[in-house]
Amino acid sequence: MRYGWMDEYLLKKRGVTKDLQPVWNWIRYHVGGKMFAAVCLDGENRSYYINLKLEPMEGEFLRQQYEDIIPGYYSDKIHWNSVKPDGEVPDELMMDLLDKSYRLVLAGFSKKRQREILGLSCCGTDCTKCSCFGSLCQGCNESSGRVFHAPKGKACPIYGCAVHKKRFVNCAECAGLPCDVWKTTRDP
Ligand code: SF4
Ligand code: SF4
Repeated sequence: MRYGWMDEYLLKKRGVTKDLQPVWNWIRYHVGGKMFAAVCLDGENRSYYINLKLEPMEGEFLRQQYEDIIPGYYSDKIHWNSVKPDGEVPDELMMDLLDKSYRLVLAGFSKKRQREILGLSCCGTDCTKCSCFGSLCQGCNESSGRVFHAPKGKACPIYGCAVHKKRFVNCAECAGLPCDVWKTTRDP
């Protein structure tokens, strides 16, 4: 398998877990409990396909460009694709395809659930790393942004803007980042 970096690369992504499906002998990578990639192994644990999900049009296009990309083996052949692990698909493209598969599956969850899976607030803060977490504060996702230091009865201004007003998963989706709200909000 030419993509020796793949396991480490996927496990570094936020919210990713892996298991082995023993009957199929597939190593599966999940985000939020849903599979976004799998390495199919033969009886001698050699990989013969890597399955990943793509937008149907992109999958179709790539299947025409690379003979090592075929409709998903043992999967829904519209959304899933199988890449031969020792073929001609370049490493950079393979990374891009795995990123897309991860984002596609993640995007299938509600925005609130995506924030929970990523373990981040909408501003990019990992609330669990804060010394206030658990005692003074339950974190933005749990309290819908109405944290102890927010204006009384309201959400933190960043949460109010990104989640309530703009309905983003987080500020990374915003062309205005870093904005004045973002720069002036002070979180202890
Ligand atoms: S700045 Fe606002 S949105 Fe970000 S972690 Fe703090 S309270 Fe939450
Ligand atoms: S305007 Fe600022 S606070 Fe609002 S979503 Fe964009 S970056 Fe976040």
